[in-house]
Amino acid sequence: MHNITLIQGDGIGPEISEATMKIIKAAGVEINWDIQTAGADVIETEGKPLPDRVLESIKKNKVALKAPVTTPIGKGFRSVNVELRRALDLYANIRPCKNIEGIKTPFNNVDLVVVRENTEDLYAGLEEKIDDNTIHGIKLITRSASERIVDYAFQYALKNNRKKVVAVTKANICKMSDGLFLDSARNVAKKYEGKIEYGEILVDNLCMQLVQNPSKFDVLVLPNLYGDIVSDLTAGLIGGLGVAQGANIGKDCAVFEPVHGSAPDITGQNLANPTALVLCACEMLNYIGEGDASKKIQNAIYKTLKEGKFLTKDLGGCAKTTEFTDEVIKNLK
Ligand code: ATP
Repeated sequence: MHNITLIQGDGIGPEISEATMKIIKAAGVEINWDIQTAGADVIETEGKPLPDRVLESIKKNKVALKAPVTTPIGKGFRSVNVELRRALDLYANIRPCKNIEGIKTPFNNVDLVVVRENTEDLYAGLEEKIDDNTIHGIKLITRSASERIVDYAFQYALKNNRKKVVAVTKANICKMSDGLFLDSARNVAKKYEGKIEYGEILVDNLCMQLVQNPSKFDVLVLPNLYGDIVSDLTAGLIGGLGVAQGANIGKDCAVFEPVHGSAPDITGQNLANPTALVLCACEMLNYIGEGDASKKIQNAIYKTLKEGKFLTKDLGGCAKTTEFTDEVIKNLK
């Protein structure tokens, strides 16, 4: 029996969490879910969107599965997602992106991984008002965090049989901040000479090349904001946010979380695609040593998507979340 923290989130979070728990149970893995609430709903009763009990639960269990929590746009409380990563020092955000058989896209040879720095950059929340019409936002880049994430990317490449790591910046314009990230990347890359190839690209050029010929990219390592934007782009290359998985890894704990947000436009309608969260759960199962169950669930998901009879609306089908889930369970072997 594994003890795992589950943040069901809001928006489509509870619907896809329900689906994921059902699939894991059907695959025969016993999990004692420590269900923790966070976000706007708990502010009134607990005074903040990310109560200490959530952090304590993850610190105790070491592993969490997290569905999206809505971040208010332009005002309101700080993102729970960002705060969680910062508070637990989950410095590496890993977002693999590979074509899935059965999902039609303009490309059929995408197989890349976005490694996103998760603790600083414009996400540090350092903004101040100069006057009513002027805001000052600080882009925080440190050598230690930059070297740590680039080293993670190279280690990931070594462990996963990848060939090349490319550092992504806008160092021609942000000469000091992105310049420091790039300098850190070059230093780290020297350690891996002869083992893993190293390259550099500007983020605007990367976006253009990704939509023209994504197969030329392998592992990308980026500061926080570029990583966020580019990973939504790469999700689009393989069928959209409904299938894009992710993981936040730190020294002491890991939080598995899809790329997508809370999708308020489809909330409560049984329309959400649970694939991304289920694939996150598969990574989580690998992480806790349940590799066989992980493979079984992955195979069932891929079989369901390949057969294409029960695709959710985002993938061009008309299956409800619950129908897709039941089909995945039927395909578990
Ligand atoms: P955030 O900035 O909070 O990460 P986002 O910009 O990634 O959010 P989402 O909330 O993920 O935005 O939604 C973007 C679009 O993708 C919406 O139209 C939403 O319905 C769709 N979408 C996101 N996740 C899913 C899903 N699991 N299934 C189906 N559609 C989804």
